[in-house]
Amino acid sequence: MIESAELLEVQASLASLGLNVMAAQVPTAAEQAAVRNDSYVTFLHTLLGPEIAARQERWATTRTKLANFPFHKTLADFDFTFQPAVDERLIRELAGLGFVERHENVIFLGPPGVGKTHLAVALGMEAIRRRVAVYFTTAHAMVSDLRQAQIRGTLASRLRVYIRPRLLIIDELTYAPFEGSDATNFFRLISERYEHGATILTANRSYGEWGQVFNDPVLATAILDRLLHHSVTVNIKGGQSYRLKDKARAGIMPVHAEA
Ligand code: ADP
Ligand code: MG
Repeated sequence: MIESAELLEVQASLASLGLNVMAAQVPTAAEQAAVRNDSYVTFLHTLLGPEIAARQERWATTRTKLANFPFHKTLADFDFTFQPAVDERLIRELAGLGFVERHENVIFLGPPGVGKTHLAVALGMEAIRRRVAVYFTTAHAMVSDLRQAQIRGTLASRLRVYIRPRLLIIDELTYAPFEGSDATNFFRLISERYEHGATILTANRSYGEWGQVFNDPVLATAILDRLLHHSVTVNIKGGQSYRLKDKARAGIMPVHAEA
């Protein structure tokens, strides 16, 4: 291995710039380049590649933690043959993330256990892989958080947490019991994100029932109006619960028994 005062200095300089992978690899890389008679550009290219890859990996790890996902599952973990109600081609197209670029929305509708949260998380993980900042929340957690913020007088700054991410995932919309100013806060959020950020929503009730969910038919219409204007609905109608598939197969319970 090449060892010289100059090389040690180069290593120290790289480390001081935070280029630790390059610092560690420069002795071997320099030696290999000399043996192979590589051009200066090839040498730099060989040295930079792993540094960039490590940086990307760190970014993705940090971002995945910050995204607040309930679990880490990808599209590769999703069994499309189990759920023929899901259009695989459409999901693959969504994974191309054009909807994020265009600030559009994706809404997964369907009964419990059919993979709505899984697909939402998988699209979120794909977005992080492509350096998009993602934040996951349940509707219930978000509206409670905003309600608390309103009481403390910090609503505007708290709203920014949900407005800022390029992709926001709001899970289980229709399990949230909306009360007081929840629907108004939700409307404010959706209005702020409208045509500025992409949102994925999951819900177990059809649009016609959203008036009851929000406890306010007028606001529900205004919310739906903005959400659906640029959106794709993935309706997993008649889908079977993946959670109950083994039980159903064993004849312990019917497939639609989960509430
Ligand atoms: P939902 O949000 O529609 O209630 P989830 O996405 O939480 O359902 O799915 C329930 C569980 O079953 C999760 O652990 C999920 O990863 C898994 N799951 C659901 N559908 C599939 C599928 N088609 N292939 C693999 N795993 C699935
Ligand atoms: Mg779910």
